[in-house]
Amino acid sequence: MNAGLMGGTFDPIHYGHLRAAENARQELGLDQVVFMPTGEPPHRPGARASGGDRLRMTELAVSSHADFVVSDLEVQREGRSYTVETLEELHEQRPDVRWTLILGSDAYAEMATWRQPGRVLELASLAVVARPGTPLPQGGPPAVAVSSSELLISSTRIRAELKEGRSVRYLVPDAVLDHIAQRGLYR
Ligand code: ATP
Ligand code: MG
Repeated sequence: MNAGLMGGTFDPIHYGHLRAAENARQELGLDQVVFMPTGEPPHRPGARASGGDRLRMTELAVSSHADFVVSDLEVQREGRSYTVETLEELHEQRPDVRWTLILGSDAYAEMATWRQPGRVLELASLAVVARPGTPLPQGGPPAVAVSSSELLISSTRIRAELKEGRSVRYLVPDAVLDHIAQRGLYR
């Protein structure tokens, strides 16, 4: 089986993430895409919503897609998670799966700074989605380009809009919007 791994802080998850995963699923013929919200992310200050809230929003966002699933592996793990550790664990749990790591162009550009990037490349193929404003860098590790829906959406912008009391409707799925409102997140 071929599966994609779509990791992110998902603080909150938005349609940019969902379109990136859907384009990768379709163009690479993936049987499944596993969404993996981070625990404490290694490359940025802590998320603004708890791991539990980010996990729940991710579940709500993908629930209507038969081939999208969510893993709580990194949220449940103590401390920070590195992609290499996650992939090692996924390989142990599901030795039959060939993994493709789905990355936006900004995440791909940072890959050289990751822990054991060489081992990551042994454990997974790479698919890169061009993100508006971040062209695909040249000379990086081998990767398949996946078309982008060119959605100029970021979680940073969504948090900023919410902090100012503005609507983020149609940037995130309605169920995510409801969860944010119910829990009073990002105010
Ligand atoms: P933040 O602004 O908090 O960094 P973000 O919108 O960048 O949030 P992340 O959780 O950091 O979202 O990103 C997870 C993955 O999704 C990364 O590989 C990132 O490049 C990719 N991604 C995020 N937004 C988009 C988008 N609009 N189009 C394509 N890929 C995206
Ligand atoms: Mg980001």
